[in-house]
Formats: sequence, C-alpha cells, structure tokens
Amino acid sequence: MPISYTPLSFVALADDCPWHMFLQQIERVEPFLGDLNRWVDTLRRPKRILTVDVPIHLDNGQIAHFEGFRVQHNTSRGPGKGGVRFHQNVTLSEVMALSAWMSIKNAALNLPFGGAKGGVRVDPRLLSEGELERVTRRYTSEIGLVIGPQKDIPAPDVNTSDRVMAWMMDTYSMNQGTTSTGVVTGKPIALGGSLGRREATGRGVFTVACEAARKLGLDITKSQVAIQGFGNVGSVAAQLFANAQARVVAVQDHTGTIFNPSGINPCLLGSHVSVHGGVSGFAGGNSLENDLFWDVPCDILVPAALEGQITSQNAGRIQASLVVEGANGPTTPQADDILADRHILVVPDVIANAGGVTVSYFEWVQDFSSFFWDEQEINARLTQTMLTAFEAIWQVAKEKQVSLRTAAFIVACTRILQARALRGLYP
Ligand code: GLU
Repeated sequence: MPISYTPLSFVALADDCPWHMFLQQIERVEPFLGDLNRWVDTLRRPKRILTVDVPIHLDNGQIAHFEGFRVQHNTSRGPGKGGVRFHQNVTLSEVMALSAWMSIKNAALNLPFGGAKGGVRVDPRLLSEGELERVTRRYTSEIGLVIGPQKDIPAPDVNTSDRVMAWMMDTYSMNQGTTSTGVVTGKPIALGGSLGRREATGRGVFTVACEAARKLGLDITKSQVAIQGFGNVGSVAAQLFANAQARVVAVQDHTGTIFNPSGINPCLLGSHVSVHGGVSGFAGGNSLENDLFWDVPCDILVPAALEGQITSQNAGRIQASLVVEGANGPTTPQADDILADRHILVVPDVIANAGGVTVSYFEWVQDFSSFFWDEQEINARLTQTMLTAFEAIWQVAKEKQVSLRTAAFIVACTRILQARALRGLYP
C-alpha cells in the first residue's frame, strides 16, 4: 500500500455494505476525472464523523441508550446538507454512504451545499410520541456541535417528518438562545417551512421519470408502474403517476406486497396505510409474495424504500424498461451492470430523488431572506432545476458512452474536486 493511501481503519468493508458500494461507484468515475484525480481520495474519506450516545427516559421509567451519527462527507462547495433517518438497522457505513451520495446529489444539481447525513439506530414504531421527542431532542443536542444554518443543515429522511424537524429546530434554537429557523429544512410551514417541500421528492421522481420515458419513446399515459416503498416518496409519486393516467400495478412496503394489473388507487391505498400502518391487507389489490415483486410486468420500476434492494439476485428478473431511483442507493454496482446489459435505463438516485433537497435549498433561501414564495413558483423552479440537471447528465452519458449514474458522478465529482483544488489544502 503506498504511503499516499491508507484505507480507513474502522469500517468493516463487507462486500455488500453501502460504503463499499459508494467506493465502487467512485472507482468507476476515476477514468473520467483527468487531472482532478490528484484529489479523488478526498471523496473516499468523510470530512467529519460524529458518533453520539442518545440516552433517554422511557415511559416505563427505564433508561435506554441509542446510537446516533452525523457524518459530513464533504463541504468543499458549501455547508453540509442531508437528512436524518430513524431506523433500527442504521449503521455507520450506511450513514457514511448516504452522506457521500448527498455530496454527489447536491453537486449534480449544482446546489451550493456539501453532503451530510445523520441517523439514529432506533425503531421509532416502538416509541411513544414522548419517547420519540426525547430521542430527537437529545440527538439534536449531541450533534449541536457540528450543525447550524451555515455549517450543516439536517432534513427529513426515512421515518422522520416535519414534526421531528420542529423538535430539532426548537432544541437547536433553545441551546443557541435564539430562534434559528434555517438550521433544518422540511419544517412545518408555520415554522418557516416551504410550501411543496413534503411532496418535492415524489414530485421530482415523477418529473424525471416522465422525461426519461419521453427519451425512451414510452407513453407515460399507457405505462404500468411498480413502486417499492409507500412513504413520503413512493406515495406522492404513485399519486402523480395515477393523475397522469399511468397504472400503478404493484406496491411493496415493509408489511407486504400488493398487485393489481388493472391499477391500484393510490388515494385509497393512502387511507388504508394511514389506518393500518402499511399496504398489507389493502382490498384494492391481491397480496403477492414479497420476492415476486421483482417479476411484476411493468414499464417503470420505482424503488423508493431503502438501499441495496436491486441486486445481482433479482436484476435479471426485472421486467421494466426504466428504473427511477426514489430511494438512496437501491441498486448495487453489480445489479447496475446487469441492468445495463439488459438495456434497462436507470435514472440514478442522485438525480431522481433530488427534488427533496432542491426544495430544501429553496426553504433555506426563503428562511434567510424571510420572504416566502408561493407553491406554483416553487414547483416551477423545482421542475426547471431537475430537468436542467437531467439534460446535462443525459448529454454527458451520451458523449462518454456511460450510464446515467456514472455521468452524474462525472458532473458532480468534477464540481466537488474543482472546488477542492481551488481552495487548496490548509494549512
Ligand atoms: N433526505 C432527503 C435526501 O436523501 C432530503 C435531504 C435534504 O433535504 O437535505 O435527499
């Protein structure tokens, strides 16, 4: 091993761990970075990793400890930016990868942010509202050292909502002694949140799906869509596809899979999920064995749940001609190759799900200027930002004969490493 490169000591590099996936994606972009390769190892080490203990009083009087993380992968182009997830399987490797994908996403969209991500290893479904609030507040206090409106701005992610953001904003503000709305995005509207933010990720997924379908000559009004995940991203995307006359034929979530070749009504499904906590048992479709989700005949597949879902095990079975990644990191590099061999177009996460952070950027700007835009303006700017980024990446993919993912990485890594090189090393 040359002195110039020492691998990180603390990450168990299991072949299928998310950080390893990210490292493989970086390897694929290296041949296209030219002189900037001198700086590429910057991307292989997060700038800052904070691990915190999150102790709380449970309602039954006991004390519970949870593991929390905030990782700032890169801040060359601006403050860290990225969500916080609450999930029982959160790991450091995962949060590192998610923070790195935020660096790539923000640079691919040309937003003035670096990349960061946070997580608490907790199953929020097992907590009462009071316990959830205490976890959120203690976690926020612990990471208060490294976050701030000009330092690193958290937002919602898996299992976190505008309510969690309100508690984060309040806790940070109480510790600072002044109300600081710009410290998080995805807040309630009444606290300086932005119109359109809640729907923004799903709306962005739908926008790029339509554009990619147009490029493929696929008529969206006649297309069949399968969606994995029916949370903030999947449910909004499903509704927009249905509004556009596409048929949502399958939906899978952590409770099960439902299938209906004549189309699932996302509005009725939404009501079912809000009562029962998941899609399982929905009367407007038949239940399907979970693994058969990958064989469902469809034109567009939207993985909008967790990472590592499309793997070498199931990529060969996917029927869609277009995969639009609503989740972060849903496709492994091996599965990417299989899909490419099968001429299935993948619109990668770093562009497909960037609608959320794009409107987060609008929210941050609105908070600073204390001047709020109407929803029409927000949606119009969102569409414009996403289509401009998509077109630029499409052109690079065509020119260099690479996948859209590698093209997005070429655009993003070039921007990040140019900033890195111009700033130079300190001291
Ligand atoms: N959690 C979302 C993402 O993965 C949004 C992040 C943000 O708005 O900062 O892109």
